[in-house]
Amino acid sequence: MKLILLGPPGAGKGTQAKRLQERHGVAQISTGDMLRSEVAAGSDVGKRASAVMASGALVSDDIIIDMLANRVRQPDCANGFILDGFPRTVAQAEALDHMLAELKLELDAVIELKVDDAALVERIAGRFTCAKCGTSYHDTFKPTAKAGVCDVCGSTDFIRRPDDNRETVRERLDVYNRQTKPILPHYEATGRLHTLDGMASMDEVAAAIESVLATLPTDHVHLDVTEVR
Ligand code: AMP
Repeated sequence: MKLILLGPPGAGKGTQAKRLQERHGVAQISTGDMLRSEVAAGSDVGKRASAVMASGALVSDDIIIDMLANRVRQPDCANGFILDGFPRTVAQAEALDHMLAELKLELDAVIELKVDDAALVERIAGRFTCAKCGTSYHDTFKPTAKAGVCDVCGSTDFIRRPDDNRETVRERLDVYNRQTKPILPHYEATGRLHTLDGMASMDEVAAAIESVLATLPTDHVHLDVTEVR
């Protein structure tokens, strides 16, 4: 299974990608997570990306395309992958086409999660995650059961992304509308674009994604890792 999840920040791409990873055993590839690891590690890429990320703008295409080209060649991608947060520009979409053609792979579906801009600011500005186990929470929509304590691992240490503040979220939405939305016609033309209502509950969105997957040939969805390696 080779999927792209498209949608503005806060549309639920990460949550759905994690579910798909668990359910179908495919790799979740989040370029945002990869960049955050680079920043945390203090690498050259991290140093070049950190100020750009903090502003809500996009990291340069050449950095991202290089990173992705290495990532899709890793063994855990043999069973398929879900791209979460890539491509974000027309140049990235074109580079992905070339990469896949070189690897003799084809995309199965591109899923766009459509959401309302005002609701997104609320969704994102309240997000936080447990620093120890990574469980996601939200001040209003999904607080911890006991204030300041992770429901899953009991840690009292939480992280808020520095770019999850109202001002940067507005900039990230604007960037999505200006730079990422123009790639939609590219995928519409291939007949593989499926637009879903990202305002529905997480479970409803997950079910809608499964319905799309059910329309794909089964060997695209239920590959066994051992068959591929
Ligand atoms: P995300 O976690 O996907 O919201 O990404 C966080 C930030 O990382 C974005 O606001 C961008 O600055 C950067 N980023 C992530 N993916 C890409 C990409 N495909 N192209 C350019 N910048 C990216």
